[in-house]
Amino acid sequence: FSPIHIIGGGLAGSEAAWQVAQSGVPVMLHEMRGVRGTDAHKTDGLAELVCSNSFRSDDATSNAVGVIHAEMRLAGSLIMACADRHQVPAGGALAVDRDGFSEAVTAEIQRHPLITVVREEVTALPPEDWDLAIIATGPLTSPALAEAIRERTGKDALAFFDAIAPIVHTDSINMDICWYQSRYDKVGPGGTGKDYINCPLDEAQYNAFIDALIAGDAVGFKEWEGTPYFDGCLPIEVMAERGRETLRHGPMKPMGLTNAHNPTVKPYAVVQLRQDNALGTLYNMVGFQTKLRYGAQAEIFRMIPGLENAEFARLGGLHRNTYIHSPTLLDQSLQLKARPGLRFAGQITGCEGYVESASIGLLAGRFAAAQRKGETPSIPPATTALGSLLNHITGGHIVSDEEPGKRSFQPMNINFGLFPELEPGSIVKPEGVKRFRGKDKTIMKRQLIAARALEHCKTWLGAA
Ligand code: FAD
Repeated sequence: FSPIHIIGGGLAGSEAAWQVAQSGVPVMLHEMRGVRGTDAHKTDGLAELVCSNSFRSDDATSNAVGVIHAEMRLAGSLIMACADRHQVPAGGALAVDRDGFSEAVTAEIQRHPLITVVREEVTALPPEDWDLAIIATGPLTSPALAEAIRERTGKDALAFFDAIAPIVHTDSINMDICWYQSRYDKVGPGGTGKDYINCPLDEAQYNAFIDALIAGDAVGFKEWEGTPYFDGCLPIEVMAERGRETLRHGPMKPMGLTNAHNPTVKPYAVVQLRQDNALGTLYNMVGFQTKLRYGAQAEIFRMIPGLENAEFARLGGLHRNTYIHSPTLLDQSLQLKARPGLRFAGQITGCEGYVESASIGLLAGRFAAAQRKGETPSIPPATTALGSLLNHITGGHIVSDEEPGKRSFQPMNINFGLFPELEPGSIVKPEGVKRFRGKDKTIMKRQLIAARALEHCKTWLGAA
């Protein structure tokens, strides 16, 4: 076989290289560190962890990231094998000795007879004679390559910052207080009437909320993160500081909305949540991008009527990040539709985190290797953690009815909201249990989704 070229030897690129090589196909892995650094990496080691040393929960029975760990192990992941070998005690989490981990990944990659590591910066899209290639250059993709990607994908399809609004699990929203309605009842093509969930605030609740936002503890931008705020993406707490009424005339305006539970009383302000995934299991808080610290966010956003018990699939943030608009640009096997054979992997596809980036590298590697061998890439079922994350990246997104053409696509960690719902009737009260409350049901639901994921992953790998 002729080699598959992989650009970037981070979490995703290293895993992709391993998967390709383990399937008997040679790899050229191009990594710029050693020649050119990034603002966050400190070493030349492959798969360097730039910040925390945690791979998060390792509980495969009821935690989504634990499930993806388990699936990656089943698929022969190098990143997971090295993490397991260099684990340090961290309760239920999988934390690693960062140097030992990166050194182990580097050694395994360098030792592999089918992998050649080339230390160079790739400054343009892969040349045509690299017929199969994977770009895995991460959140800190070098500017020259980012510009080349942007020229190819269009300027709106590559972001240099993420501006993330919190995302809430739908089943934790109190629909006795909230209601479904699009502003002015606009329904676009394919509209279900469930595109938006609205939370009403009266004047006192609004004022208390604004006070809490202003008092909230924001995270500063790191110097290298550059210009902090950009058009249309002001953090909600900055908007609140600009004037007490700013939010009521902006993202929290009550116009065109009638409280279904109390139609005669006009809400003073409304927080809207927009359907975030095709499954309808997640809703994002419209216009609520924020730099507040995570602890403060949960506390302040639970002040909103209807969100008092909100479970957040992810909290808001604003970071430097390079990622493409994968749902429109990539096909199911992570190939750029405009250039078959060129794949993307890792954080640049719009996943978030070490584990998720490595898992998308794992898939991109397997898909590219299959293609090189003349096989059809085998896509993991959507019920697996790998499949649900892939689905988030490549297509699980809805077009907003209210703003046709706009899609909500924000970088995402793996979470149970990305998995398809269970068959109706799957959650049954265990025998002998007297009180089976909402929390118990949530735990059982997660356990059932996790068990289904692992079972389907084993079948997928057996068939792959
Ligand atoms: P990376 O691991 O960044 O790998 C990309 C590689 O591509 C790098 O080695 C880079 O040198 C190389 N490269 C870039 N451009 C080129 C080029 N033109 N030619 C050749 N090589 C190139 N995630 C967590 O889970 N926990 C955290 O605590 C955490 N903290 C973070 C802190 C910061 C400051 C940043 C920026 C990100 C953080 N992340 C964290 C996210 C984390 O970086 C990613 O999830 C993960 O490292 C992404 O994996 P990746 O393989 O996509 O990119």
